[in-house]
Amino acid sequence: VEVITPGTAIEDDFLEHGANNYLMSVCVLEGRCCIAYMDVSTGEFRAHASDEKENASEWFRSELFRIAPREILVQQSLLEQPSIGQAVRECAAVVQAHPDWMFDIAHAADVLQRHFGVASLRGFGFDRNDPEIAAAGVLLEYAEDMLRQPCIHIRSLLRHDDGAYVSLDEATRKNLELVRNLTDATRRDTLLAVLDLTRTAGGARLMRRWMLQPLRKKAAIESRLEGVSFFYHHQLEMAETRKLLGSVLDMERLLSRLAMNKAHAKDLKALGNSLEASLSLFAYLKDCNAAGSGIRMLSDDLREEIASVAALLARAILDEPSILLNEGNMIRNGYNPELDRLRALHQDTQGVLERYLEEEKNNTGIQNLRIRYNRVIGYYLEVTRGKLDQVPEHFIRRQSLVGGERYTTEKLAELEHQIESAQDRIIELERKLFLAIREEVQRSLASMTECAALVAEIDCLASLAQAATANGYVRPSIVEEPILDIQNGRHPVVEQCMPYGAFVPNTLSLGADAAWFALITGPNMAGKSTVLRQTALIVLMAHMGSYVPAESATIGLVDKIFCRVGAQDNLARGESTFLVEMHETAFILNTASSRSLVIMDEVGRGTGTLDGVAIAWAVTEYLLENIRCRTLFATHYHELTGIEHPGLRNMRMAVIEREGMISFPKRLESGISSGSYGIHVARLAGLPQEVIAQAAALEHRLRSLERGLAVIHSAANEASNEPSRSDSRHAMAKNEEKHTERSLSLFSQEDLVIARLKGIDPLKTTPLEAIQILSELAAMLKQ
Ligand code: ADP
Repeated sequence: VEVITPGTAIEDDFLEHGANNYLMSVCVLEGRCCIAYMDVSTGEFRAHASDEKENASEWFRSELFRIAPREILVQQSLLEQPSIGQAVRECAAVVQAHPDWMFDIAHAADVLQRHFGVASLRGFGFDRNDPEIAAAGVLLEYAEDMLRQPCIHIRSLLRHDDGAYVSLDEATRKNLELVRNLTDATRRDTLLAVLDLTRTAGGARLMRRWMLQPLRKKAAIESRLEGVSFFYHHQLEMAETRKLLGSVLDMERLLSRLAMNKAHAKDLKALGNSLEASLSLFAYLKDCNAAGSGIRMLSDDLREEIASVAALLARAILDEPSILLNEGNMIRNGYNPELDRLRALHQDTQGVLERYLEEEKNNTGIQNLRIRYNRVIGYYLEVTRGKLDQVPEHFIRRQSLVGGERYTTEKLAELEHQIESAQDRIIELERKLFLAIREEVQRSLASMTECAALVAEIDCLASLAQAATANGYVRPSIVEEPILDIQNGRHPVVEQCMPYGAFVPNTLSLGADAAWFALITGPNMAGKSTVLRQTALIVLMAHMGSYVPAESATIGLVDKIFCRVGAQDNLARGESTFLVEMHETAFILNTASSRSLVIMDEVGRGTGTLDGVAIAWAVTEYLLENIRCRTLFATHYHELTGIEHPGLRNMRMAVIEREGMISFPKRLESGISSGSYGIHVARLAGLPQEVIAQAAALEHRLRSLERGLAVIHSAANEASNEPSRSDSRHAMAKNEEKHTERSLSLFSQEDLVIARLKGIDPLKTTPLEAIQILSELAAMLKQ
């Protein structure tokens, strides 16, 4: 009996190529959220728990979406907690509720110790009393229960070390479109699609992990950068390495099938070939002195062991073996003398059969006599209807057909027995030999797993070097200080969608001269979101150990990256646009540290203008005063440019106005944007001329109403009593007026009057209204 669930499947047909297939468990014990996750198809097994200080449900949500399990075992009582239950329902995994009593730490510790054959879990970095042990124990028992056998390829339980990785929460991963795009949730137009040029399935899975878990420690990042740099500077070697990688199949998954006793002869053949290809790869890299340049090599012991496994498989298994155990056709000639003897006998018996047929042909004179075989009656002699009168007496009839008769003879039955027993013996012997080989190969499971991990790593390094070469990236310089200096940076994904050289690079420098907060203003379509996201992506790529799309980049280490885009609905979660936005903003303000990178786009947009400005203003001040982390804050609330703080730098997206036409060169520069040019963008989008003109006229009127905003300003001034701020706000109000005039000057008054006239339906206009319109039009023309 085999039970297949989404999280315990190990057959290729059920698995996604290039992504892990995780089974996960979660419980809350001692006030901490504990999770464990395992990929049965590759043998990975990890556990960890949230910090006591952390918000357990937020933490869980972030981990859940990072891991993206196919199946999840949940402590029963947790499903009743709204936030956790909701997250579990959203993640599209199959959910299995487990009674609370099953999450027992002591029992789980026993299960794990027994499984790993250790007296203590300390070697894995766990204590017997750690609550996450309970989640791990439940997971292992469940997997073994489903698979009906011990998972011997799961050889260690690793602690997912939060401190080793830059934390990226769910919304950030989504907004940055790392592995799925926001449009149709596929891999198209994602960072992964640009960087993942790996040649092996194991490499593809690892690349995804590297992207979702960028490194936090300088030494670890530098080591990866060294590896990428080796390939980047040795292009021929990179090409050859990638070619060799092309012959490596999915070793991790082959190994898990081997461990589960599910590998058939074709799997073993594939494994043998992949091991050989891996050995050639390491030998090649050794020849080019790659060791010591961030590329981890196979140790001599391991190489010997793997070479002997590969040699065994090459010697033993046929090139095109059967995938069934009870058909023979698996083992090579020359591997086992007894098998060779039986095969010779079998082949000779076939010859005897042919000689016997000749004999009977001569005896009977039936020249078209044939010997055939079917499963029901075995071997038989077939005589066509026209020759039936030549059939001799010793032919025993077995079957009559329309076209003839089937016979056996004593001699034929005797021959059949000989053939079948030889065949049976061959099949049985092949089966035994195969199982013995499989067992022998299983003994090297740990070494082969290590080899597969090293190959995946090399694949990722070569893939990053290939992407850097193809797209013109540079090696970032990683520093401890909270600096961000990107010269002529580009968006790695957007630039791919444009003709070569069409993307406008941008320079951004924060932290070096004390300003760490960039407040970016600019009209819609001017390129704000792109420059924001490209900065986050460049920082993330640097932390992955990748080269980055820029002319040069100095990146100070970050501990967390947050990327928020205002106004996105989450109807599935039952939250309004604005609630989602505030929820996410709260999360950032409560979680970010001075080492984080915060990217906020249009915060406060989901509500009315007055409270939107007020919230954006307060959030900015809080980030500047309390968190003091590197921040890029894009806003269309020009009022915010009135905030004065030594940490804040006003930046804007350039706008070029020439002869009444406006263009956005997508260039980031110092200064304050002079307006939002919404009407201009509407015209670019092709709104009818009348609508545009009417909107321009209305904007003019609304601007005067907007002076009401001064109420906030004066209130804020009174609260802070800072003369410098009120001065700058005054300057800002003037700025606004100038902008309105400019926006109106795009259209002549005559245009506006004509547009207004076109909009009137005389049949629906009362005489009184007509007089009002007339005086309005006259006033417009006088202006
Ligand atoms: P905003 O956030 O200011 O509304 P976006 O960042 O969404 O603007 O950019 C608007 C459009 O301009 C996008 O379609 C994008 O492809 C293009 N774009 C943005 N930045 C650049 C750039 N640096 N070079 C070329 N095109 C760009």
